[in-house]
Formats: sequence, structure tokens, C-alpha cells
Amino acid sequence: MAAGEVLDTAALIAWPLERMRGSFVVPSQRAELYRISPDREMLLDAIGLEWSSPGPDAITRASDLAVTTGDMAGLSPVDLELLALAIERSATLVTDDYRLQNLCEKGGLPWLSVTMEGISALWSWELRCTGCGAVLPSPEGPNSSRELGECADCGSALRLSRKRG
Ligand SMILES: [Zn+2]
Repeated sequence: MAAGEVLDTAALIAWPLERMRGSFVVPSQRAELYRISPDREMLLDAIGLEWSSPGPDAITRASDLAVTTGDMAGLSPVDLELLALAIERSATLVTDDYRLQNLCEKGGLPWLSVTMEGISALWSWELRCTGCGAVLPSPEGPNSSRELGECADCGSALRLSRKRG
């Protein structure tokens, strides 16, 4: 039985607040979340998350695992920290990132999909232009260091926002 859950940033965005209480997150996710969803970032302190940075031993173990599986090149620093924290805490890693899921499989670590069964209150998100308001197809998941980009029509920044209606 795993001791708690480590949430990736997609989970931080999608999961109901009350479901996340006591879950582990790494401090570097705060900047990542702010970039994707400032509104959501503002709520973080109210949730009761366990902020924790993995130690060097866990980082080494996560790095060794990622090098062995060949996933290292595709991992962001945040991804690596999340993996290391899951190792260090013997926790379940909650992620929709296939690389992280693969790493958990290969390393014998428990993982859950963000959209796991039983989470009924998932929010829907869409990419919306902050300038002209154009709505684009939602990305598969807010992922690592990927920038959301700019609007093809007006060049304004895109932002992930909660779907209306
Ligand atoms: Zn636009």
C-alpha cells in the first residue's frame, strides 16, 4: 500500500480541491502551475498540500531509472523531481504523462492516471486566447516545460481556462 500520492501539475489543475488535501507536490510546480493557470495557483495555499523537495539520493535513483529506460531526454526538471519524490515517499505518482507512467512501470512504482475512475468532478479545460478570445482545442495535458504558445490570429498569449457551460 503506497503512502500517499504525488500529484503532477495536470492533477493539480484537474482534481477537486478536497481530493488533494495531504498530497505531495514539489515547490517547482508552483511556477509551472502559475504559467498555465494563475487562477488555480492562487488556490494552492488553501488546499493543504505537502510541499516537499526530494533529497539527492532520491534524485539519483530517479535519474538512474530514467537513463535506464531512455526517458531522461523527455523529462523536465519538474518531472524528475516528482518521480524522485514518489520514490522517496513510497507514494503513488498521479500523472497522465506517458513517460512518467512508463518510468513507474519499469521502476515498480505505483501510479494513477489523473483521470482515474472515481474522480467524478473533473473540470474541463480549453485553450483560450487572452486577446481575441478565440478558443482552441485543448492540449492533451498541461505538460512539463511546454509553453502554451500564441494565438495564430492575433498573437496574444494563450491561457488554459475552465470550460464554460
Ligand atoms: Zn487571439
